[in-house]
Amino acid sequence: MRVLIIGAGTGGLCLAHGLKKAGVDVALFERDRTPRSMLIGYRVGISPDGSQALHSCLPPDVFAEFVRTTARPATRINMRTEKYKELLVAELPPQVDDTRSEKSVSRIAMRTALLTGLEDVVEFDKAFTHFSRNDDGSVTAFFADGTSETGDVLVGADGAQSKVRRQYLPHAKIADTGITTIAGKLPFTAEHAKLLPPQAEGAVTLLYGPKGAFVIIHVMRFDGAGVEDDYIMWGYAASHDKFPELKGLRQEQLKQVVLDMTPKFHPDLRRLFALADPETVFEIKVRTSEPLPAWKSSNVTMIGDSVHLMTPGRGIGANTALRDAELLCRKLTEAHHGKNAVQAISEYEKEMVEYGFEAVLASREQMDGNGAIHKPVIGRIVLAVLRTFLRVTNAVPVLKRKMLAKESTHRDHVNSPDEVVHAG
Ligand SMILES: Cc1cc2nc3c(=O)[nH]c(=O)nc-3n(C[C@H](O)[C@H](O)[C@H](O)COP(=O)(O)OP(=O)(O)OC[C@H]3O[C@@H](n4cnc5c(N)ncnc54)[C@H](O)[C@@H]3O)c2cc1C
Repeated sequence: MRVLIIGAGTGGLCLAHGLKKAGVDVALFERDRTPRSMLIGYRVGISPDGSQALHSCLPPDVFAEFVRTTARPATRINMRTEKYKELLVAELPPQVDDTRSEKSVSRIAMRTALLTGLEDVVEFDKAFTHFSRNDDGSVTAFFADGTSETGDVLVGADGAQSKVRRQYLPHAKIADTGITTIAGKLPFTAEHAKLLPPQAEGAVTLLYGPKGAFVIIHVMRFDGAGVEDDYIMWGYAASHDKFPELKGLRQEQLKQVVLDMTPKFHPDLRRLFALADPETVFEIKVRTSEPLPAWKSSNVTMIGDSVHLMTPGRGIGANTALRDAELLCRKLTEAHHGKNAVQAISEYEKEMVEYGFEAVLASREQMDGNGAIHKPVIGRIVLAVLRTFLRVTNAVPVLKRKMLAKESTHRDHVNSPDEVVHAG
């Protein structure tokens, strides 16, 4: 059996490793010209689910290299107002087992680590355009450079703008969530560290401001030699209507937009915005898949954002892509050992559609530009209720542990709430 994968992102690379390890003939095609010419983007949180999927698919030395390139994991959730006032600060359970732990990774460092050992499998500068089915049941993928490749199974792992999805499931809809984010990064230095909110080092920091404005801050510190220089990244989000027209703005101007929108935010936070290297600033209109009616399985399938694009709201996009990769790998390995390939894919899709679209809805709840918190009058009330809820939870240890447990089950299926409550 020959499997063609389109896209060397989070899911595609994990699947390629798993299939190669299982002895399946696999080829992966990526449109980027080189491994490092990927679109901008910084920190990705890998959950216990994601870690487990990677551990299962990657050969031990590649998994070890992946772990080596991760940043120090977050040990705390740090929720505050836009003026740095404490709302809720909670220590996360200690991480003991690399195969089931939360990890903080850079998109580029993760891709570099996951490319280890796939030199004979991945081809760069191969932009997939479309596929066709052949009389013998095989499928042919065509590329922008005029070449083509034929295999028994085609897997779209080509992300949010998937061309495989557009051809295979043309009725699949991608919706605008109404949220815009602008993000940037700056080097982590002693001077810059002084500008961070209290307890932000070693934490995922979330700041809740007025009018639905929201800021996330990650401090990325790498202990592995030669991985990346330490950095601070911030992301600012609000509903579209709060932003001026962003079309055509240069990166320096995007940064200025954030400063113009946050005059009353903590002055140190505004310094962090202002100090971001303009070349690192990017804007994203957050989009999400709409639930999809079931379709008849064939030897073409998809994993990750290509089939269930979700908001960054719960930090589960990359992890769901990894869960898909691990599940599809298992099913295709069964096909390699004699099971009917379409039957194997159908079993994969049945499970994937269920948990994938559940994750889509859960992540949308967290980032919905039409939510009450973004509305002019009611928004103030909602923010006040949210802040009170967080402060009360902060003051009552049992409520805090329950909240952490709930968050964890939203994010993952491997950590049972009991485990987290006990660990916490
Ligand atoms: C620009 C960007 C920045 C992001 N930043 C963050 C972040 O900072 N934090 C976070 O948690 N998540 C981030 N995400 C989301 C997260 O990376 C995804 O949820 C996760 O990687 C999903 O994995 P995937 O394998 O489905 O898709 P991806 O990892 O997006 O991989 C898709 C791959 O397919 C390739 N591809 C696309 N079209 C073609 C084609 N026609 N032919 C061949 N190859 C193709 C792409 O170049 C890419 O390498 C970001 C996503 C993007 C696109």
